[in-house]
Amino acid sequence: MLDEFIHEPRVAYFSMEIALRNEIPTYSGGLGVLAGDTLRAAADVSLPLVAVSLVSRAGYFRQEIDIQGRQVEHPSPWDPARFAQPLDAKIAVPIEGRAVWMSAWLYVHEGQLGGRQPVLLLDTDLDENRHDDRELTHYLYGGDETYRFKQEVVLGIGGVRLLQALGFRIRQYHMNEGHSALLGLELLRRYRYPAEDLRPGELPYDIPRVRELCNFTTHTPVEAGHDRFSYALVQRVLGNVVDVEMTKRLAVAADVKRSRLTTDESFVDLATFKHLAGEDSLNMTRLALNLSEYVNGVAKRHAETSKTMFPGYQVHAVTNGVHPFTWTSDAFRRLYDRYVPSWCHEPELLTRAECCIPDAAIWEAHLQAKQALIDRVRALTSVNLHPKVPILGFARRMTAYKRPDLLFADMERLKAIAQQRSFQVVLAGKAHPRDDGGKRLIEQLHAYARALEGVVPVVYLPDYDMDNARSLVGGADIWLNTPLRPLEASGTSGMKAAFNGVPSLSVLDGWWMEGCIEGVTGWAIGNAAGANDGDARALYDKLEQVVLPLYYGYTNEPGGWIKVMKGAISKNASYFNSHRMMRRYATEAYTR
Ligand SMILES: *Cc1c(COP(=O)(O)O)cnc(C)c1O
Repeated sequence: MLDEFIHEPRVAYFSMEIALRNEIPTYSGGLGVLAGDTLRAAADVSLPLVAVSLVSRAGYFRQEIDIQGRQVEHPSPWDPARFAQPLDAKIAVPIEGRAVWMSAWLYVHEGQLGGRQPVLLLDTDLDENRHDDRELTHYLYGGDETYRFKQEVVLGIGGVRLLQALGFRIRQYHMNEGHSALLGLELLRRYRYPAEDLRPGELPYDIPRVRELCNFTTHTPVEAGHDRFSYALVQRVLGNVVDVEMTKRLAVAADVKRSRLTTDESFVDLATFKHLAGEDSLNMTRLALNLSEYVNGVAKRHAETSKTMFPGYQVHAVTNGVHPFTWTSDAFRRLYDRYVPSWCHEPELLTRAECCIPDAAIWEAHLQAKQALIDRVRALTSVNLHPKVPILGFARRMTAYKRPDLLFADMERLKAIAQQRSFQVVLAGKAHPRDDGGKRLIEQLHAYARALEGVVPVVYLPDYDMDNARSLVGGADIWLNTPLRPLEASGTSGMKAAFNGVPSLSVLDGWWMEGCIEGVTGWAIGNAAGANDGDARALYDKLEQVVLPLYYGYTNEPGGWIKVMKGAISKNASYFNSHRMMRRYATEAYTR
């Protein structure tokens, strides 16, 4: 079953979440979608990769909105057997002194260009395990911090062991966020010095060797997004490991010939932990930074912010990109197939959109995608949107720093703008079940929608997922983004919009610092250095004086609106795509 994947060395891409397809709810937001897009790009550009994630059998959650506008969370379980094959190898990881056994499901991504890439979805739900251990791979970002740490043991340590047991040859490891940083410790155990060669006080591990193998991408400039665990917890879970016994059983279960597991009785000593991951607590980000030769942020601005967060580390910038085929509406896929053949393999060719696609064909494709969104909105909410009125789209994780309420900061001003030139708004997004601020925002947005009834149609599309996202980025006329600077690491939905000729109206943060050419690819809200508190006013001014007049054709811009649509495609879709991102990782990170 694995033969086609183990004959050549691969890059192991580790992520706690991954968006493989709409029916598989193993993702919560941008990080998972990016992991999925990376896999899909690797398939299109033939870069051998294996993705490692958790099976998250219970899914993230399905979002319903009640009549008060409150988020209701429903379980979203999925059956791995429907989409993936069980692998027979089993390995164990040390947790609280016992062996927790795990296996994996093999999901094979089949790209639309014929490329195939394997994904291992780790699973502890095995008969060998205690009840609570069987649930370790059920809940994505669920449970308390002990549960979370155990999940990270499964992902990092278990992932490396399973790859080895299955016969994968890994040329580079790629950690995404600190969640998988324990993989570096497992590699240290693999490359340790013989005790007799050690000088007093020297750590027994070949750290340079491990660093050569590891890459780390940080995805968030929000401090709370970086996991820290107390050493008391770490020792409770990983200390006093009865590893000798376990290793014997492992050698039977896994392949003895391939397995080079050591037979010591502790996982990694506390001194090493503290040296690599911080004196006071286990900082997963610091651990990943110290064990990776190549470190990067996900946009130029984000790399700068990360350098100030982690002084002393070299942080490169590889700006994110999105997968062309996945995020392009059916109508635009047909358009590109006709005018820019092989755009799926070489999205750079979309620079030609500017001169090679007739304006009328762009507009016709857009109207089809817009109608598809209007139909979906009607089906899901029974609201009728108007095809001739511009749609502002805003959809992403609902959380405070994304400021989904900024558009509604001054309701009188908003109404006045709409009375002059009408527009409609489609919103979507899930709040993490424990993010009370995010949940309150969803309620508030519904209150604003009610208050605007009869003046501005505002609809909230429930259960934001890959399908809703594709429909929204394809059918909106303007893609809105209003994060609090500098907290948006990259943001990717605006890039998806660009593939559909939808210009962004966005605060200058994350990728938009690089993507915005004023009036050519979209528009900036405020300026890069400006204080965040002027943003609402800047948004209203731009909408009222520039964006809506251009849409309705009341200005004398040559080419008008469609010229900006083409600017978004030819200048941004051609660059902010996963293929360029993947080629950069291949030539700059995975080179050792
Ligand atoms: C693209 C996407 C995201 C990330 O959007 P951002 O603009 O980066 O916040 C989140 N959720 C889903 C379902 C997506 O498709």
